[in-house]
Amino acid sequence: MGKGIWVYAEHKDGKIKKVTYEMLGVARQLADQLAEEVAAVIIGKEVGELASALGEYGADKVYVLENDALAEYTTDGYTRALARLALEHQPTAIFLGCTVQGRDLAAQVAQRLQAGLCTDCTKVELQDGQITLTRPIYAGKAFVQAISPEARPVMATIRPNVLPVPQPQGGRAAEVVQVDVEPGDIRQVIKEVVRQVSTRPELTEADIIVSGGRGMKSAENFRILEELADVLGAAVGASRAAVDAGYAPHSMQVGQTGKTVSPQLYIACGISGAIQHLAGMGSSKVIVAINKDPEANIFKVADYGIVGDLFEVVPLLTREFRKL
Ligand code: FAD
Repeated sequence: MGKGIWVYAEHKDGKIKKVTYEMLGVARQLADQLAEEVAAVIIGKEVGELASALGEYGADKVYVLENDALAEYTTDGYTRALARLALEHQPTAIFLGCTVQGRDLAAQVAQRLQAGLCTDCTKVELQDGQITLTRPIYAGKAFVQAISPEARPVMATIRPNVLPVPQPQGGRAAEVVQVDVEPGDIRQVIKEVVRQVSTRPELTEADIIVSGGRGMKSAENFRILEELADVLGAAVGASRAAVDAGYAPHSMQVGQTGKTVSPQLYIACGISGAIQHLAGMGSSKVIVAINKDPEANIFKVADYGIVGDLFEVVPLLTREFRKL
């Protein structure tokens, strides 16, 4: 029996993030092939009750690291906690979501463990007995496969919304292991934590995204995208040009220097389709582009294109979807 395929169970506001389930699915497949166990690691305050769901999605074991001082994510506190646990148990692999938190934590933990790190992976499989990681390069124009024949653990961050969520097996329980967190491990957030409250899904986890570009012409005009998004249960995104012009906050930016998204449906409104934007949304399952320029680059990647004025098309779509 090997030392386990680990998944860092990211959570927010009392809920496990979807990417955690996606990683558990692939961890389960690898573990079955390698005759290893799947362990999830959850860190925070009063997070023990979230552990049961992780068993249903494939974890055999859940390490729970609970402490009041770990209520909020801190790079130092979480790195020390996860790295110490990994040094003690020497897992075969550790997967984290390619989220803001996962990217930060993975880099720090990899450094502490003297392991490599393959980021933003879209596929994980076993090839010739090696855990093989696939990640896009050159803004999604090509893919590279990486293996780590010797260094352990194999560490990777996994792009959210790409791997399937496994079917939960009701009643499947994981062994819950409470891990003592030594006070010396803890760094506390002493500043205020400001949360953005939104009823819309988070951009990186949304199944549908309505995104606006420079063609929106003002921050106020984003209202029509929000109306369409609310009818569809979608998140709202933006191009960098829209963000730079002050139409939308940076947290909504999709692309090379923004967020990477992989929704089922991406509706690009007034976005030309620059390579840096495509880098962030090119792996969307279905792309719909609304642009008044029939030559716009976005139409080259779109599954459905609407050549027209977005200020006419978007409200029309909202009205029609409302009827459904
Ligand atoms: P534009 O290219 O100006 O396109 C606006 C589009 O709106 C046009 O196609 C136009 O025909 C259409 N339009 C105008 N009015 C209407 C209307 N009424 N109805 C319908 N269509 C209309 N960009 C990103 O998006 N994300 C990134 O993360 C990012 N990172 C970058 C990193 C680097 C290092 C660099 C150099 C650039 C980066 N960019 C990024 C910028 C990128 O190169 C483009 O400048 C940007 O994506 C363009 O945004 P846009 O498509 O909204 O604007």
